[in-house]
Amino acid sequence: MTDLFAPAMKSSDYAETASAAYRAALSVIEQVEPRIAEATRAELTDQRSSLKLIASENYASPAVLLTMGTWFSDKYAEGTIGHRFYAGCQNVDTVEALAAEHARELFGAEYAYAQPHSGIDANLVAFWSILAHRVETPSLAEHGAKSVYDLREDDWEKLRRAFGEQRALGMSLDAGGHLTHGFRPNISGKMFHQRSYGTDPETQLLDYDAVRAAAKEFKPLVLIAGYSAYPRRINFATMREIADEVGATLMVDMAHFAGLVAGKVFTGDEDPVPHAHITTTTTHKSLRGPRGGLVLATKEYADSVDRGCPMVLGGPLSHMMAAKAVALAEARTAEFRTYAQNVADNAKALAEGFLRRGATLVTGGTDNHLVLLDVSGLGLTGRQAESALLDAGIVTNRNSVPSDPNGAWYTSGVRFGTPALTTRGFGTAEFDRVAELVIDVLKNTTPAATKSGAPGKAKYVLADGVADQTKAASAELLDKHPLYPGLEL
Ligand code: PLP
Repeated sequence: MTDLFAPAMKSSDYAETASAAYRAALSVIEQVEPRIAEATRAELTDQRSSLKLIASENYASPAVLLTMGTWFSDKYAEGTIGHRFYAGCQNVDTVEALAAEHARELFGAEYAYAQPHSGIDANLVAFWSILAHRVETPSLAEHGAKSVYDLREDDWEKLRRAFGEQRALGMSLDAGGHLTHGFRPNISGKMFHQRSYGTDPETQLLDYDAVRAAAKEFKPLVLIAGYSAYPRRINFATMREIADEVGATLMVDMAHFAGLVAGKVFTGDEDPVPHAHITTTTTHKSLRGPRGGLVLATKEYADSVDRGCPMVLGGPLSHMMAAKAVALAEARTAEFRTYAQNVADNAKALAEGFLRRGATLVTGGTDNHLVLLDVSGLGLTGRQAESALLDAGIVTNRNSVPSDPNGAWYTSGVRFGTPALTTRGFGTAEFDRVAELVIDVLKNTTPAATKSGAPGKAKYVLADGVADQTKAASAELLDKHPLYPGLEL
């Protein structure tokens, strides 16, 4: 087993202690709202008994989970370390400083900000920080103001106008970008004039020459790199060159692959931190921490990043910052590096398992933690495939493929990720078996006809017996790699 719990959970003392902690917690909760205690137990049962292949999910360690449930939740601490708008924040200072220190050391960043409550918040902090740092108005110098935050009220009008003229260039949603990378219904698409770059229509790979051409023509203030559903690594040195050529700030959102960066699977040009001006991440995906966000920045952006609260954040979630510190301490270990390598190896095994069984993959494979299966060749929409898989106990999510004819709701793809099952200890042979089970379910799924007789996009029929057979086969795999082994409620 290479999973996180191996060193600690192998010791029966640890498992017993964690079990006792959860039993006690649930019995306290039970006395106030028994239905919540019941739902909490049910969630563990469900997570233990399904094949979780959602690329953005993972299982955090008991140490991380327990850290979230403390009295730090009760403390207000707006401001920054040592400079709070509330009294009595000395312990929050300790926690935030540790989370930031671990993040700086782990990622080799000049500056780290641990307050963002989520990935979206981290991106908002980054955007505002870039605007505050980069947008100049004559009034700034005129009034001797050091930053936009020192401006007088009437200067804000000018600044607002200047902000509105700024441009951002990010990966399009159907090529795998995230909605915070300038997608119009998101605030990022309203803060910036936005343009997106896609992938090469033939290879479906990122085309750096096309990104460069778009940057030269569009001249963005911010070049955004990073993705939610692109199954390949990115050369961040090249992205930085492009940003420099047009005077843009390079912002990388590594939410999905932060665990592979922390675990030193992505190094050199594939490690965003040395190349980007600002790197954002979530802490709960491949990084295997609590739900939350982080911003890493070069020193020049540190002051404006620190204005995240009150610019776009309220009081920091101190209990979550504490849990981030614990998770980052775990991510520094040799076990975590092994885990990260296994995540990538397992994704390759899953992709190869799909390809060997005749499936079509976006970009033809993977070299990160995710695989994007194009189900259109099977006559299905992503929505039908996702639902049929769920019936068989396989939890995934549908996802657009490049230039998806079925749009973002029905889609033509299903995204699979290896971080969660790798945490349980699944290896390449098990992922090959997972590929077999998935393809078997999909080959036994047919679209249900609509009233007009045409194939529908949502309804489907899964052949009799397949769901049960798949669940039985999954149970064999899951029983071999129990979630939180030894944890008994
Ligand atoms: N950035 C990327 C690349 C993501 O994939 C996601 C979430 O899926 C986010 C940001 C947003 O994270 P959160 O859900 O924590 O706001």
